[in-house]
Amino acid sequence: MSDALLSGARARRAAELDAADDLAGLRERFTLPEGVVYLDGNSLGALAATVAARLADVVTEQWGNQLIRSWTEGDTPWWTAPERIGDRLAPLVGAAPGQVVVGDSTSVNLFKALVGAARLAGPGRTRLLVDAATFPTDGYIAASAARMTGLTVTPVDPAAAAEAMGPDTAVVLLNHADYRTGRLHDLPALTAAARAAGAVIVWDLCHTAGALPVGLDEHGVDLAVGCTYKYLNGGPGAPAYLYIAARHQSAFDSPLPGWNGHADPFAMAPSYEAARGVARGRVGTPDILSMLALDAALDVWDGVTVEAVRAKSLALTDFFLDCVAAYVPQGAVEVVTPAEHGHRASQVSLRTEDASGVMRELISRGVIGDFRAPDILRFGFTPLYVGFADAERAARTLGHIFG
Ligand SMILES: *Cc1c(COP(=O)(O)O)cnc(C)c1O
Repeated sequence: MSDALLSGARARRAAELDAADDLAGLRERFTLPEGVVYLDGNSLGALAATVAARLADVVTEQWGNQLIRSWTEGDTPWWTAPERIGDRLAPLVGAAPGQVVVGDSTSVNLFKALVGAARLAGPGRTRLLVDAATFPTDGYIAASAARMTGLTVTPVDPAAAAEAMGPDTAVVLLNHADYRTGRLHDLPALTAAARAAGAVIVWDLCHTAGALPVGLDEHGVDLAVGCTYKYLNGGPGAPAYLYIAARHQSAFDSPLPGWNGHADPFAMAPSYEAARGVARGRVGTPDILSMLALDAALDVWDGVTVEAVRAKSLALTDFFLDCVAAYVPQGAVEVVTPAEHGHRASQVSLRTEDASGVMRELISRGVIGDFRAPDILRFGFTPLYVGFADAERAARTLGHIFG
């Protein structure tokens, strides 16, 4: 078949798939520039259409006119925003209310979670198992948390982590998805293995929350962290979150006991007494502007289930892989994302020699993905605003670059 026929057939297929897609209309809930295919929502989610006006109101009305009263007055006082927005986010990660608090960066929440986990694990256990391919910040923070708590870090391949867990394991830190390859790790089985070994498990959900079901409560996860500026579209530097399972909250001993996590912050007491519930995961005064941008961005989930998003994500990445196989010359790229659905998160990673140069060229042609050193082209698929025609155009453009 000629190239033109080949791409014509797939472009028609894309149009059919878009026409049959129940989530296609959600794209209107976002403000995206014309003519751009945006496949980098796993680094910075797109701008939700309600955010600009909401932030303008927060600045001019809540801050400008209401001033200090906004901390405690109105329907949505600033002071309780970390717990309120945590409860909005909770269903997206399968958590019942009262277990998610929003604030700080993922790195800071990792520190709280890891030291808190080591303290929950108690004495007598010596090892902290860490995903060997982890996103760097998790490894850096884990090393410091281990030094502080007297644990020894052992890197583990998540696929073999269950066998590495034993009576000396205090804490296990795993990424739900590998940020480089897009491999999805088996959260239910690995959580069950950690609990059977008597260890405390901490999951990093940065690359899965908002893209696929996580089921924190259902699978008995102990602690979890994640950011909100990727698939949750909270905006640049949007605050992260910390999940503390209800059963651990009364014993959770934060290494950052700031006054916002105090049982009675305005008593200004000289000594610390942790708040009841997940509020003890708070530290200092929250970054309200970013937090309320996230609050507005979460409106896009009204009437949308994570299950539907997951189904579309798999269909999109399947279709993209099919188009890449058809359009890109044999041998030009190597697919590093698993083909099996059960092992694939919401991105496709392709290895190629000059990945940095190829991505620059793609971006100049209106297809925005990203590059991860040394040789990975990364394409994130956010089903809320990415369609099948986008996937087809991205693969076709990639084919032209190699063609
Ligand atoms: C994006 C990401 C982070 C980001 O950490 P910040 O402290 O929010 O900058 C951490 N861990 C993983 C796995 C990530 O993908």
